[in-house]
Amino acid sequence: MDEIKNENYRSGFITVLGRPNVGKSTLVNALMGQKIAAVSPKPQTTRARQLAILTDEDAQIILMDTPGMHNPINKLGRAMNAIVEETLQDSDVILWLVDVSDPPQSEDELIANFLHTARNLPPVVMGLNKIDLLSTEEQDSQKDVFKKLYSNAADVIPISARKRSGLDDLLQKLKNMLPKGSPYFPEEQITDYQERQIAADLIREAALMFLQQEVPHAIAVRVDEFTERETGGAYIAATIFVEKESQKGIVIGSGGKMLKKIGSLARKSIEEMSGRSIFLQLRVKVSENWRENAVFLRRMGYETVEKK
Ligand code: GDP
Ligand code: MG
Repeated sequence: MDEIKNENYRSGFITVLGRPNVGKSTLVNALMGQKIAAVSPKPQTTRARQLAILTDEDAQIILMDTPGMHNPINKLGRAMNAIVEETLQDSDVILWLVDVSDPPQSEDELIANFLHTARNLPPVVMGLNKIDLLSTEEQDSQKDVFKKLYSNAADVIPISARKRSGLDDLLQKLKNMLPKGSPYFPEEQITDYQERQIAADLIREAALMFLQQEVPHAIAVRVDEFTERETGGAYIAATIFVEKESQKGIVIGSGGKMLKKIGSLARKSIEEMSGRSIFLQLRVKVSENWRENAVFLRRMGYETVEKK
């Protein structure tokens, strides 16, 4: 950006790392002050890589909200792990988010081991999230527990993404760790993610919210049409893909009730994200074994599926 002539300006990429459900998307949304990433009580809501760009007068922080690390049980899982690895090597700081309302889980240990053994990694800041669920004494003891899990952290910062506490402190510390340099993106740009991809994520989030255990992770969403209406709003047509005929029935529900519920929640989140009224039309289609189908995954935007 030309207008910024400040020699002390800092800019860089921060990967938000952490197992599913620790609050990565919630944190990114809280820092951005608006809904960019899909948040869900069910893990694995966030799928493709997404940048959130936070620009102010002394720094531009580019946050990468990545999927969690997990066992690559299928191609989609492997694609996610590949994304995580590449992202870490490309970033200036790693923000490792943990959930202090629980003891460290095996996935936290996996991440700790990975960070210990990986080479050429940038500094790691540990964000101790969900402190709102603990008393002050519990916070202190959990801080020690997580410090033991990973002793190489450059900093350990307690926060609550949901209650927005500790975020100023976190931001300031992250900024100070970024290299000096001019911003990568124009000031007004807040994400590299297409609005239609965000919409697809939000529809998926809404579906997972209602479907609970019935269709675990067996859905993908594609936005087929996203057009501006002359009246000011937008029209979105999207397809929810499931793996089996039986799942299709569940997603539609009796008399179409379930699909209606999903559509109405999704519409609300998309309106919140895009700041305009949305007309949303959903349909459900069976695509067998989409999780093992590389072509399908590429079409859905999971570009790094094939790693050579
Ligand atoms: P992600 O999988 O790491 O991206 O996690 P999400 O951001 O989707 O959050 C998972 C769940 O944890 C959601 O139900 C959030 O509302 C909840 N959550 C996130 N941050 C906090 C927090 O600071 N405190 C509490 N109590 N819940 C949180
Ligand atoms: Mg997420």
